[in-house]
Amino acid sequence: MSDLLPTCPYCCTALPKMPTRKSRCPACGLAIYVKAAPEDRIKRLVTEAEATAIEQRWQAAYAAQRDEQHIQTFGVPVPRTGAQQRALGRQIARRDLLKLQSVSRYAEISGGRDACPSCRRLEGVWEIEQALSVMPLPNETCERYQQGFQMHCCAFWGLPKAASDDPR
Ligand SMILES: [Zn+2]
Ligand SMILES: [Zn+2]
Repeated sequence: MSDLLPTCPYCCTALPKMPTRKSRCPACGLAIYVKAAPEDRIKRLVTEAEATAIEQRWQAAYAAQRDEQHIQTFGVPVPRTGAQQRALGRQIARRDLLKLQSVSRYAEISGGRDACPSCRRLEGVWEIEQALSVMPLPNETCERYQQGFQMHCCAFWGLPKAASDDPR
C-alpha cells in the first residue's frame, strides 16, 4: 500500500511524497488532511469534510469507550440527563453504604468543605440499615444540581468521625 503514490483527495493529482501533516495540494491548492479513522487507524489523505467526519467518529468512539469504563465501574453509562445523573448518584451512594456496612453499623453524611446549605443540613450519623432503606443521598434538593446535570451532590457517606479508625 505504501508503494502507491499518494494523490490529492480533491483533484487526484499525484503528490511528490506522502504528507505527514495537514498541507496544501500543489495543484488545486486545497487543504489535505492526514487522518486515521478509529475503525482501522490507517493514516490516509482526506478532504476537509472527510476529516471532520472522521473527527466525529473519533469523538463517538471515545464516548463509547468512556461509557464502557463507566459501566464497568458503576454499572451504568456516563449520564446524559439529570435523571441518569441521579440514578448514578443513588448507585454510588448505595455502593458506598454497602462498603461501609462491612466495617461499621453506622455511617455519617458529610457535606465536605463547600457543601451547599441543603446538604449541610443533612450532615449526621445514620444507622446503615436505615440509610439503605431511606437513601437520603444523593440529596434531591442539593443546590449544585441546579448548576447543571453533570454536578454531583455535595454530600457523601463516610465512617462516623468519632468511630473512625483514622490514626491521626
Ligand atoms: Zn489537489
Ligand atoms: Zn449540595
